[in-house]
Order: sequence, then structure tokens, then C-alpha cells
Amino acid sequence: MTSDPEHIQAIRNGVRNLCHRYDERYWLNLDSQRDYPTEFVRTLTDEGYLAALIPEEYGGSGLGLQEACVILEEISFSGGHPGACHAQMYVMGSVLRHGSRAQKEKYLPGIAEGSIRLQSFGVTEPDTGTDTSSLKTVAAKQGDRYVINGQKVWISRVQHSDLMLLLARTTPLDRVKKKTEGLSTFIIDLNEAVGNGLTVRPIDSMINHHSCELFFDNLEIPEENLLGAENNGFRIILDSMNAERILIAAECIGDGRFFVDKAVRYAKERRVFNRPIGQNQGVQFPIARCKINLDAADLMVRKGAELFDRNKKCGAEANMAKLLASEASWQAADMCMEVYGGFAFAREYHIERKFRETRLYRTAPISTNFILGFVAEHVLGLPRSY
Ligand SMILES: Cc1cc2nc3c(=O)[nH]c(=O)nc-3n(C[C@H](O)[C@H](O)[C@H](O)COP(=O)(O)OP(=O)(O)OC[C@H]3O[C@@H](n4cnc5c(N)ncnc54)[C@H](O)[C@@H]3O)c2cc1C
Repeated sequence: MTSDPEHIQAIRNGVRNLCHRYDERYWLNLDSQRDYPTEFVRTLTDEGYLAALIPEEYGGSGLGLQEACVILEEISFSGGHPGACHAQMYVMGSVLRHGSRAQKEKYLPGIAEGSIRLQSFGVTEPDTGTDTSSLKTVAAKQGDRYVINGQKVWISRVQHSDLMLLLARTTPLDRVKKKTEGLSTFIIDLNEAVGNGLTVRPIDSMINHHSCELFFDNLEIPEENLLGAENNGFRIILDSMNAERILIAAECIGDGRFFVDKAVRYAKERRVFNRPIGQNQGVQFPIARCKINLDAADLMVRKGAELFDRNKKCGAEANMAKLLASEASWQAADMCMEVYGGFAFAREYHIERKFRETRLYRTAPISTNFILGFVAEHVLGLPRSY
């Protein structure tokens, strides 16, 4: 399915108009106070954008990933930080594809209307990092309940979410053939869990991303909160990851365009040595190079999203899009710092905040090295390196 360009443009215009109401000062203020963009997220939800990927039968907008990419790209381009709420779009993909009829009916309409916030994805652990299949959090079946013990780190938006998808081990590592077996995915009701076996500790970090450490101490959840088949959790989580990578790549494209746009304007206005700084090739060539690299990365984002919407394999494209877009946005961020000279460091120009925010995407949700490893192994057939 290739989306209609006019429809895409209408979505772009709609999000752009919405973002005008939440200007850069709004985001700067939140960043300074380490506050959550509650009002922005409410508006985005009310106007149906965060429910873009939920089918209409569950109250969503029934759009494709191509449209969803445009929504996040525009938020980034406006100077906002969609990382504060992007997971509401894609985490539910695991519920949609693997949930029982009862789970879908229980959760998806509420997620679509915003009365249920599914903003959190609990995978990373302090001791095992990117080696996900070695994670140590365990869920032990006891009667009609699971009892969860362990620890997670860097889990974002837990304090602004009602539900979290959690990956935990249900069969010990020494009793499975492959490390990726024996893991299960659970729907955690955070309102019930916090204070009853789950402790949440916010991490003071470089960006306003609301990430936390989680400690599970005999947290009991009902067995009906298992998502999909027991021991098949790795696959269930992976199914949301291609969407996540493509959407985050689209955010990077928006970030990159934000920096190029700022740099062009400033290079035209700022006069030193009696001429605009943008008249110097040393200033204008790096801006042009960033524009070229962003447009090239955007083609890969669109290719990945189109394959995803057609239900085709898109793992390679999703990973390549995320690598290209995160490198292009980081290059643009650094370029913009250079063009603004000393003023780049003044918070009121919004460059340093976006510079910090866009850097995240070279590390999370998966670092550049592991994308290179994926392409080397799965696209080029080289031996697995990790
Ligand atoms: C702000 C923020 C928000 C996050 N939000 C979430 C979230 O909501 N949910 C969640 O589950 N996780 C989240 N994460 C975690 C994120 O996905 C991980 O930080 C990321 O996957 C890297 O894991 P790590 O930090 O443990 O790095 P490590 O796995 O310790 O790796 C450290 C470095 O070593 C490199 N490296 C390690 N092994 C190899 C190898 N074999 N070959 C080559 N290079 C290697 C890595 O590429 C990386 O550069 C978040 C992280 C941050 C910073």
C-alpha cells in the first residue's frame, strides 16, 4: 500500500497546525522543569494522531506506518520531542498482533481514546544491556498468577503510563535450546503494581525523557496478563521493534530538518565581516551536505514504512533507516551548533536541547553497532559477531 500523497500532506498540515500551539518555548520550559508534556499529549490524542496505527474497529484512525512517520517527523521538525509519547503509537502493536480477542477489546479502545496510556516497554536490564535474551527478570507461574522478580533500567514514561509491556524469563536459560526461547511478554497494570511489588526510581538523565529504574520484588499479576503464548515473548517484542525503528528514524528526519532550517535562516541573517556567514562556502557546504544526507535517509525511511504497510519483510530496511536517519540528524545537530557559533550554547535558541535529544537515537532503542551487526549477518551472510 502506497499512501495517497494528498492524504499524507493533509496529515502533515494538520500536525503542523497543532504543533504551532506548542512552540519551542513550551518545550524549553518542560526541559528546564523536567516536566511531562501532558497538555500536548492530550491534544495529540484528542485529535486522533496517537491512535494512528490502531484499526478503526478498535476506535483508532486505522492509518499506516507511512502516515504515522509523518506525524512524528512533524513534531520533531516543529522543535518538539515526540519521544515523550511515541511509544503510545507502537507498543500496542504487540497487543494488536498477539493479544487475545478479550485483551484487544479490553485495552485497544481505551488506548485509542487515551483513557489508557500504554507508553512503556520494559526490556533493558542493568546487567545484560543489549544482550536481551540473557535478561534475568523472572516470572514464575504460581497457580493462576505469575510472580515477578528482577530489575529493569532505562524504562521510559513509566510514571506517565497506565500499562507496560514487560519481557521476563519464564523458562530457565539452561532448559531452552535457543537463548531467545523461554521468554514471555506480560501486560503490567502499573496503577496496581507500583507499591505492591514494583518500585520505580526515576533516572536523572541528559534529556527530558522520563526514564526509570524498576525493581520487581514478588510482584504478582494474574495469568490473563500474559500476552500471546508463554515462552514466545521474544518474538512478540520483536514484532513491535520494526515499527519502532522506522518511526524513530522518521523523528530523526524531523530533527535533522529542524537543524537545517535553523541553520539556513541563521546563516542568511547573521552578518560577520560585513556579509552573511552563509555566503562562506565553509558555512554553506556543511548545511548542503546535511540536507543531502537527510533526504537520502528519508528515502530509506519511506521504503521501510511502505514495506511494513504492505506486510512485507522490512527488518533490513527498518534497521538501515534507523542508522542512516540517526547519523544524518546527529550530523545536522553538530553542523547547526557550528553555524550558530557561541549562540548555539544559549538555551533560548533551542539548538542545544535538540542536540541532546537527537543524540539518543544513535544509542536507543538499539545502538549503531548492533544495526551494523544485523546487516552484516542477516543481509550479507557474514558470521554472527555477538
Ligand atoms: C533515554 C533512554 C531511554 C530508553 N528507553 C528504554 C525503554 O523505554 N525501554 C527499554 O527496554 N530500554 C530503553 N532504553 C535502553 C536502550 O535500549 C539501551 O540503552 C540500548 O539498547 C543499549 O543498551 P546498554 O545501554 O545496556 O548498552 P550495552 O549493551 O552495555 O552496550 C554499550 C556499548 O557497547 C557496544 N557493544 C556491546 N556489545 C557489543 C558487541 N558485541 N559488538 C559491538 N558493540 C558492542 C554497544 O553498541 C554500545 O555502544 C533507553 C535508553 C536510554 C538512554
